[in-house]
Amino acid sequence: MTDQAGTTDSNGSLRLLIIGPPGAGKGTQAARLSATYGIAAISTGDIFRENVKNGTPLGVKAKEYMDAGQYVPDSLTNDLVRDRLAQPDVADGFLLDGYPRTLQQVEELDGILGVAGTALDAVIVLTADTDEVVRRLLGRAAEQGRSDDSEEVIRKRLDVYAEQTAPLVEVYTERGLVVEVDGLGEIDEVTGRIIAALAAR
Ligand code: AMP
Repeated sequence: MTDQAGTTDSNGSLRLLIIGPPGAGKGTQAARLSATYGIAAISTGDIFRENVKNGTPLGVKAKEYMDAGQYVPDSLTNDLVRDRLAQPDVADGFLLDGYPRTLQQVEELDGILGVAGTALDAVIVLTADTDEVVRRLLGRAAEQGRSDDSEEVIRKRLDVYAEQTAPLVEVYTERGLVVEVDGLGEIDEVTGRIIAALAAR
């Protein structure tokens, strides 16, 4: 079985990651790709925000890191993803948005997929320049009132991304999985670029 973009394997499954700096449009694109390919989009940021909103013990712990622009510790994040990837709706595919973000999370994900006898099909790397993402994030802060979107916290999040997450691109490039896509431009245009790049693999 193949989807409309001819991307899925012979079992119709598709396992993707989307990586990029804050403000590159990962969440927006993840929602569209999820609809296009009929796979669940899993955003660790959304799951943390939901827990913060509901005041769960995980939310209380996560909030202090999120508000400081730092990553939530790997142990908490890995547990959450392990549980989520054990749900039946992701047996045939998923798109992880915002995970893994550290080398330790890459190892953890390798372990989870290894035990399940599955593997990633591709890693979408969404690029965007710093001035543009700061501009977008400040706009979003004004619209949504996210507490991790003050200019100081935005700069911190970009530094943390460069330090801790950018190195993951190299790891996945060595594995031959990376599809790099320019995240600048109209939303539809960027979605089209991603679908075309995945189909060309
Ligand atoms: P996002 O919406 O993906 O930008 O995530 C918002 C915030 O949630 C991040 O700045 C982190 O504090 C936290 N977070 C989300 N995903 C992860 C992750 N994989 N590892 C650690 N922290 C995360």
